This record gives sequence, C-alpha cells and structure tokens, in this order.
Amino acid sequence: MNKISLLKRLTNRRQLILSGLALAILSPRAIQAKEEQATLRPRHAPPKPASNGKRIVMIDPGHGGIDSGAVGQEGSEEKHIVLEIANTVRTLLQNHPKVEVRLTRDSDHFIPLYQRVEIAHQHGANLFMSIHADGYTSPEANGASVFALSNRGASSAMARYMSQRENDADKLGGAEVQQKDHYLNQILFDLVQTDTIRNSLTLGKHVLDQIRPVHHLHSQHTEQAAFAVLKSPSIPSVLVETSFITNPREEQLLGTHAFRQKIASAIADGIVNYFDEYDRRQA
Ligand SMILES: [Zn+2]
Repeated sequence: MNKISLLKRLTNRRQLILSGLALAILSPRAIQAKEEQATLRPRHAPPKPASNGKRIVMIDPGHGGIDSGAVGQEGSEEKHIVLEIANTVRTLLQNHPKVEVRLTRDSDHFIPLYQRVEIAHQHGANLFMSIHADGYTSPEANGASVFALSNRGASSAMARYMSQRENDADKLGGAEVQQKDHYLNQILFDLVQTDTIRNSLTLGKHVLDQIRPVHHLHSQHTEQAAFAVLKSPSIPSVLVETSFITNPREEQLLGTHAFRQKIASAIADGIVNYFDEYDRRQA
C-alpha cells in the first residue's frame, strides 16, 4: 500500500497523526523490503472495500497446507479445526449491519506469517484476529488464552513458549519467508503501536469476557507476547488460543461441532462488543 492510499483510509484523526509518525520513522530499508515483498503476493483481484461502511474484520485461521499446526494425541490437526471455527465466525456475522468478516485463508494452504498481516492491510481491515488451538509439552495444559503484541518480550514463560512456537511456522516456508518477516521486526514505531496495543488489549478483554462463561480460561487476562502475526502497527490484533489440542479432553471437545460453535459465537460477540465500546469512546 502506498502512503497516499494508507492516509486516505484513515478517518480517525488520532490514527492519522500516529500513522504519519509511523511513516516518518519507517527506515528506507523497511520500505524497500515491503516493496520487494509485493512480488511474493498471490495474484488475485484487489480486495473490495467494505459495503455500507462496515468494519472489516480479518479472521486468520492459523497454519494451513504444509504447516499442520499442533497435532493432538488422536491425530486432530490444528489447521483444520481453526479453519472451521473461522468459517463459523464468518457465518455468525454475515448479516451483521456493522461488521464484515473476511478470512486470510478459506482453504488448506500455507500462508507465511508476514503475509497474513499484509493481507489484513490490503483489505483495510479494522481488526485482525488469528485463531489457534495450540499444543504444549505437557498434556495437562488446558483452557483458552488471548494474546496481544508485547513491545518488551513475552509477559510469561508460557507466552514466550507460545510465541516461539507460532513464529516457527515460517521456517516451513524456507529462508525467503524468514527474511521477509525481517521487515516486520525492523518496524519499531512505539507511539503508534502503543495505541494499537491498547486497542488490542481492549479487544482481548471483550473476547475473554465472552469465552469465560463457555470454557475454562488458561489465563484470565490478555497475555502479551511477540507473535509475528500480531505485528501490524495500525490494526488492533489478537491471537486466540481456543484451547489445547494436546490435552486429550480438549482435543475431544474441539472435535465436536457444539464446542466449535460455542467458541466461534464467543469470538463473534467479543468482536461486536469491542466495536460498540470503541464507538462509545469516540462519541
Ligand atoms: Zn497455532
């Protein structure tokens, strides 16, 4: 996206000021990397703007293709489960008057992490949510967690482990993919990201509030970690670990339509409540 089209999209004055700062401090190398990255983009029609001024919610089903994500003891693969949950969120919100859901992938294929963020930007997304069902070394680990980006490293040992694990996905894509992610790591726009992270934490809180009545929470508060997929400087972004696929009981739950529906519904309600609060604050 060039500077002009980025600026045109920004209607909120505060965001405009902050994004201007971000552009001013983007290093030439980062911009060059961003331009190079365009050559890696899949060829498809340009994204359509949202109809009727709706907010665009980019839902990102984790993993896909060569990257199966975490695998449960019974052989369930994370990539398939999270795609189903993402599709359900889209279905639940398809007639919502204010929100339009789009997916980074709606089939089983690999997308590098940096490209997931880029897709959200191409669509002018107002919110980004990556959906996972993760694995841990111990089969006892259980419950849902929500993560937002941290500027100062992971806030807990578990968060550190998880971000490492999810960021490893790009190793499957080869050296080129890892190098492309480097541009994200270079972008240190503290001012903009502080604002974006604050909104991400609000979004995380609304999602946790909705999951709490339907499933055990691994962590009561939004955790913060350095997930590559959360590094959009301007789009509030969270990563939802719906539960642990490596916990046999949760693997079984994830295999049921009823549980996936409950989680998808909690995510959809959390998103709507976030925008409601955002609008109240702007009013
Ligand atoms: Zn995952």
